[in-house]
Amino acid sequence: MKILTFDIEEWFHILDNKKTKTISEWSNFDSRIHFGMDLIYDIIQKTEKSATFFVVGWMAEKYPEIIREISDRGFELGSHTHLHQLAYEQDRKTFYNDVEKSIKTLEDCTGVKVTSFRAPGFSITENNKWAFEVLHELGITKDSSVFPAGRAHGGLPSYNVAIPSIIEYNGIKLKEFPINTHTILGKPFMFSGGGYFRLLPYKTIENWTNQSNYVMTYFHPRDFDIDQPIVPGLSLPRRFKSYVGIKNCKPKLERWLNDFDFIDLNQADQEINWNHVPKIKL
Ligand SMILES: [Zn+2]
Repeated sequence: MKILTFDIEEWFHILDNKKTKTISEWSNFDSRIHFGMDLIYDIIQKTEKSATFFVVGWMAEKYPEIIREISDRGFELGSHTHLHQLAYEQDRKTFYNDVEKSIKTLEDCTGVKVTSFRAPGFSITENNKWAFEVLHELGITKDSSVFPAGRAHGGLPSYNVAIPSIIEYNGIKLKEFPINTHTILGKPFMFSGGGYFRLLPYKTIENWTNQSNYVMTYFHPRDFDIDQPIVPGLSLPRRFKSYVGIKNCKPKLERWLNDFDFIDLNQADQEINWNHVPKIKL
């Protein structure tokens, strides 16, 4: 099973960077989201795929027409929080209010209930597992926030399972769609989204995909936007990671989507026999 998802945010929604952290910094930058959405629709149309869109609620507030178009085209909308902050930097109440606001904003745009979620930067970690409980309280049933390896920000290496599974935490249950990994000598490698996908040669991605029963993707409009400005304040390694391979990313993704079957999160949810997936007690 291979699942296509996009995180809908601006080119300047770069995490853990002083110059792009909050709304007051965001007001310094011009929007490129309409252009970015056109690139994504072009990919989807050319490859005849469906996808799930995790949207930053702030975007829905500013550009409700974008949200309505995603819904009118028949695609599922999920929440990517309201203000795109690292969840592990928030206390429980702040996280609750932020996710609640994003869900309400999205639902106001379309009238469709939001039941899917992804945390910015996969920022549910060992220290804020209560976030799963909050998601459950807010009516989220499908989560895709688990990155089962270490990373610069976020990551839950102890999760240890890189396939659809059920999270059990404090009496609640949540369907989890983690990011998949490819294991080499016991070490997990990512390849199905963002900088990893942009950096790796297509042959490697093709080989690793052939060896995977489950792939969970995550792409952003900025992964395909050749003309976007460089955000200020990034260190050299982060600058490399943020912009490597953008030029070829769109044709590369189109090739990948043509070479393999991809479905959206709702279809994946229906196809999975949830009685037979691993149960992960956190
Ligand atoms: Zn994001």
